[in-house]
Amino acid sequence: MEGSSLYQTYSRANLEFVRGEGVWLETSDGRRFLDCAAGIAVNSLGHSHPGLVKALKDQADKLWHVSNVYAIEGQEAFARKLAQATFADRVFCTNSGAEALECAIKTARRYFYAKGEPERIDIITFEGAFHGRTLATIAAGGQEKYLEGFGPKAPGFIQVPFGDHEALLAAIGDTTAGLLIEPIQGEGGIRPVPTEYLRELRRLCDDKGILLILDEVQTGVGRTGKLFAHEWAGITPDIMAVAKGIGGGFPLGACLATEEAASGMKPGTHGTTYGGNPLAMAVGNAVLDVVLADGFLDSVQKKGLLLKQKLAAVVDGHPAIFEEIRGKGLMLGLKCRVTNTELLSHFREAGVLAVGAGDNVLRIMPPLTITEAEIEEAVSRIDQAATAMEAGLERGAAE
Ligand SMILES: *Cc1c(COP(=O)(O)O)cnc(C)c1O
Repeated sequence: MEGSSLYQTYSRANLEFVRGEGVWLETSDGRRFLDCAAGIAVNSLGHSHPGLVKALKDQADKLWHVSNVYAIEGQEAFARKLAQATFADRVFCTNSGAEALECAIKTARRYFYAKGEPERIDIITFEGAFHGRTLATIAAGGQEKYLEGFGPKAPGFIQVPFGDHEALLAAIGDTTAGLLIEPIQGEGGIRPVPTEYLRELRRLCDDKGILLILDEVQTGVGRTGKLFAHEWAGITPDIMAVAKGIGGGFPLGACLATEEAASGMKPGTHGTTYGGNPLAMAVGNAVLDVVLADGFLDSVQKKGLLLKQKLAAVVDGHPAIFEEIRGKGLMLGLKCRVTNTELLSHFREAGVLAVGAGDNVLRIMPPLTITEAEIEEAVSRIDQAATAMEAGLERGAAE
């Protein structure tokens, strides 16, 4: 943007929102958009959720920050809730997804170090993965576009093609600490790992005595209709990174682990200044209370099916625009035949927001609180956007 003093690392859309309510976002000149991007799967309970606003305001009146050298009541409660609801025994709070992954990677390496196998440092990841933008997590993600120009790739990350089991077997060796995978690749283009293959990965890790690390930063906290996506496969990881939806818009992440996997993380081995501070915990606890309430996840499953079914009809109706719909719950991807970013402009003109991804996909990830009527409205706007783009293609062909 002209006159901006910011790092020019984003090519930002010419859209500036000043308020939000539920699934709606509004610009200063009063234009309203139906938000099917949710800040990239962050605004899990929509904008200005009254319960979250109250939790944050009440905490702001009491105490903002103290440091992790003191006991933090909200952090204990938050960790207890997560431990009760998942495989995990131990929780480390962070401010972001990348930091949750950093903690996961350190936990895995430290586990083997403490067991007397310090040579086991390698984490195997999968092509198309995205794990964050720190030096370790760009090495884990393995994408050249994020690594280029930042010096030597951090050691200890080996990447294999997505779904190539032979390559995976060949990559596992004496220096392997674990596998790191997203149950559904988000940035990679809503590429789900088949549930049977997730089970196979769990078996493989058990056989080889290595750790299964899941990146549920995007798939977690109800996004797929379960609290965490791995539950669909009936397996549990040893370590898991969480962020995005868990803060509902407040910067918050967490690394979860079993007692065994976390056993190397002794006092002094890791830390964070802000992670899990009272403000973040007030919001994180409020998000978990809503998502874990009776019937909430069932409603996400139901709405996810409805949205997918209706979008499938739109895909069928516009074969020149769309190739397929994929994904689970409210984490859906429209694989495009036209350039996804061009289609995204038509979405915006129709007053609906989505977010691009790899493999020429547009991600549809509305707040989990979207209503059935709002789903109808979103689908109708997406249909309108596809029709407008089609008309453009036909005009182009006629010229
Ligand atoms: C967004 C994302 C990250 C990184 O999270 P940040 O909060 O941006 O650091 C890591 N993994 C996955 C799967 C993500 O979607």
